[in-house]
Amino acid sequence: MARIHPEIFFFGAGVAEGRADMRELLGGKGANLHEMASLKLPVPPGFTISTRVCTYFYTHGGKYPARLKEGVAKSVARIEKALGRRFGDAANPLLVSVRSGARVSMPGMMDTVLNLGLTDETVKGLEAVSSNPRFAWDSYRRFCQMYGDVVLKLKPENKNDRDPFEELIERKKAQRGVTQDVDLNAGDLKDLVDEFRALIRARTGRDVPQDPREQLWAAIGAVFESWNNDRAVVYRKINNIPGDWGTAVTVQSMVFGNLGPDCATGVAFTRNPATGEKGIYGEFLPNAQGEDVVAGIRTPRQISLAAGREWAARNEISEAERHARYATLEESFAAVYRELLKVAARLERHFRDMQDMEFTIERGQLFMLQTRNGKRTAEAAVRAAVEMAHEKLIDRATALMRVEPVQLEQLLHPRLDPNASKHLLARGLPASPGAGAGEIVFSADEAVAVTKAGRKVVLVRVETSPEDIHGMQVAEGILTARGGMTSHAAVVARGMGKCCVAGCSEIAVDYSAGTLSANGKVLHRGEYLTLDGATGEVIEGRVPTVEPAMSPYFKKFLSWADAERRLGVRANADTPHDARVAREFGAEGIGLCRTEHMFFAAERIDAMREMILAENTEQRARALAKIVPMQRADFIGILREMAGLPVTIRLLDPPLHEFLPKEEADVRDLAAKMGVTPQHLTQVRDSLFEFNPMLGHRGSRLGISYPEIYKAQAQAILEAAVELRAEGVRAMPEIMLPLIGERREFEVLASEIREVSRHLASSNGTRLTFSIGTMIEVPRACIEADQIGAVAQFFSFGTNDLTQMTYGLSRDDSGRFLGDYLERGIYKYDPFAQLDPEGVGGLMRIAIERGRKANRKLKIGICGEHGGDPQSVKLCHRLGLDYASCSPYRIPVARLAAAQAAIEERRARRDFKDL
Ligand code: PEP
Ligand code: MG
Repeated sequence: MARIHPEIFFFGAGVAEGRADMRELLGGKGANLHEMASLKLPVPPGFTISTRVCTYFYTHGGKYPARLKEGVAKSVARIEKALGRRFGDAANPLLVSVRSGARVSMPGMMDTVLNLGLTDETVKGLEAVSSNPRFAWDSYRRFCQMYGDVVLKLKPENKNDRDPFEELIERKKAQRGVTQDVDLNAGDLKDLVDEFRALIRARTGRDVPQDPREQLWAAIGAVFESWNNDRAVVYRKINNIPGDWGTAVTVQSMVFGNLGPDCATGVAFTRNPATGEKGIYGEFLPNAQGEDVVAGIRTPRQISLAAGREWAARNEISEAERHARYATLEESFAAVYRELLKVAARLERHFRDMQDMEFTIERGQLFMLQTRNGKRTAEAAVRAAVEMAHEKLIDRATALMRVEPVQLEQLLHPRLDPNASKHLLARGLPASPGAGAGEIVFSADEAVAVTKAGRKVVLVRVETSPEDIHGMQVAEGILTARGGMTSHAAVVARGMGKCCVAGCSEIAVDYSAGTLSANGKVLHRGEYLTLDGATGEVIEGRVPTVEPAMSPYFKKFLSWADAERRLGVRANADTPHDARVAREFGAEGIGLCRTEHMFFAAERIDAMREMILAENTEQRARALAKIVPMQRADFIGILREMAGLPVTIRLLDPPLHEFLPKEEADVRDLAAKMGVTPQHLTQVRDSLFEFNPMLGHRGSRLGISYPEIYKAQAQAILEAAVELRAEGVRAMPEIMLPLIGERREFEVLASEIREVSRHLASSNGTRLTFSIGTMIEVPRACIEADQIGAVAQFFSFGTNDLTQMTYGLSRDDSGRFLGDYLERGIYKYDPFAQLDPEGVGGLMRIAIERGRKANRKLKIGICGEHGGDPQSVKLCHRLGLDYASCSPYRIPVARLAAAQAAIEERRARRDFKDL
């Protein structure tokens, strides 16, 4: 059959005019419905209006392209023909859903209207054909509710208000003395329809239209408009989704999960989205419709028997009670369960990824309403990627591309100390792993306000909705009283990698009193709460955390990443402890050991201060003589942890005034200790004052003014290496000079270090192996890289300073206005977090090219904060650096980003060849 309209794509009843790879036009949901239809899976027929129409709608003041109306009418007729039911027919009406769907999933952010086509007339027809008046009126009241909410925008007026329709339902239940929605009868629901419509009329002056076509166009317009609602805009901002993509609209014939006990609706994953374990996993509700499962109004049941038993054990429900009240799909719909398993396996094989499916069972018959690649925790992403590669569903490179590098950081984050004592307040569902502690807040706005004041929060809600997204984003953890593992809170928290305990029915939340009570205990707004997202525990107060362990899947996954990557990965570490952690996480050496941190310990700072107060070289040498053994011990510790691997040690960098006390009382104390007058000390401090300390007397400039400082540090490093060598430990120090901008500056300092080495060698009789290199952090060093590269053995880009100096943007002060630049779209990202590929990257390119031309063997790395940012790591790969160095916890992130960069490069080459 020919296409009806260029922007309308029909699916179902044996056809599919779209495909999975048409998500740009059909949205993810639409494209996959077409794909499922082409796989001949049971999909109710419907059609998708393309995202191009959404763009048209926005650029033409809410109008539609030519002949779209006719196209929609013909497409509806095509559904009518396929199902033998007519839209608006008083005897046997066709009902449709109008669903949103962007090219990437934006769960719950945009709107959907179900049961469209019901009117005072057609509801009677539905009553007759279903022989189920309760069902018919329930469908109609749901339609009026959704139409009022989505099309007529009748929403709660403020945060503490309940949904006005839900309020009427609650009132009706109270009047009737029942607790569950399902206990309301046809008459009650009929009353509710009247009450809903009266409310709508009173609040909006409009009514629910009695012409299905009018309903349809109003709903299509509302869904297009929902692309730009507040929560969708916030979600796009957080997830970097362009505002001009637009949503598609899918109009699909309804199937019903609420016709009676032989009906149900549910969601299922092909693997557990929290752990990655293979096997069907999900929840369903018998005799219910779509949104009921995610809304958390009734306790959902498990799909498989095994999961059902686990769930019951966790909730301390006996097997008898579980079987009677919470029978699984496997038990109560055995044939459908088997069919669902087959469909799930088929879809996972087809899409070659874990699927998240929505289904409905109408009178014992299975219908698939949606499938998409499932959102998963980092733990699940890694395990599923490794197992899918083992199952040969995907190759290793694809497995590596399946995990977002930043997600890996979640796996390295601390968990609650299992040995710490804790006051368990309640237990809910372990919806998203990790540990989170903070002050209790009850609304998203409050969460934002408190975190802006620099404090941590746990967001506590009865249930969350997409309106809470900005609060969830800033919270340490999320706790809800209602909702299952697939509730909004659970799904969104998992995606954010944030700890979440959902459906904690033991707690009672009182928004207006600002209290959370559970098991006889009342906690107030502002009190501390700790959540364990892995166990579902809700704990009073603050609980200590422990370091995480790496799972075998994680280790295997990273070993695959190592096999792919070309870029080395080192750590920025200043202590033996950090060095050990870094090595465990896979560091191939230390790229930056900042020596100044070693001076701040209480017993050391005095020696350092004595050195600063020294009035001549001799006094300075005396103070330094106290420092050398301490530094030597530090270096021994670090070099030992990194035996056999290179360790880049940077000589003193910060301006000396940073080591002197600022408060007058501290000045007096120190003066007494040093045997000088406070006036003298103040005078020295003032003499070190600088207007622009970052551009002042720091880095190698200290070494030029006070050669004995760098010589002492070099001595400590080299003596440490000698001592370790005697123990048989292979120490590989690399001495790094900071802030070099001129070849001569480097030569002078390097020759002084070599003199120390010669002196040591002659007194020890051993030859020392070490190298001397420089940080590249001033723009002049990049331009002069051929000169400097000719005399240095390595370069390490200090991109913190290089970014500061390239932009002329102070590292310390720019925080105050950088936000304005981001907000106004002048900068796309914070250049101190993500390397600027053009400006800073351009200078790096020059430095690499010139440096390597002058010195073929020049080793080049990066040690600025960017070394742990995935986009920056990928840029470093493309620039041809030898390694990136980052904080220990970001090492797995850098390993994966480096592997992905290599894979992307290979794929781009292959695509180029294919052209
Ligand atoms: C840098 O400038 O990038 C760097 C690593 O040094 P620091 O941050 O210590 O100035
Ligand atoms: Mg620096």
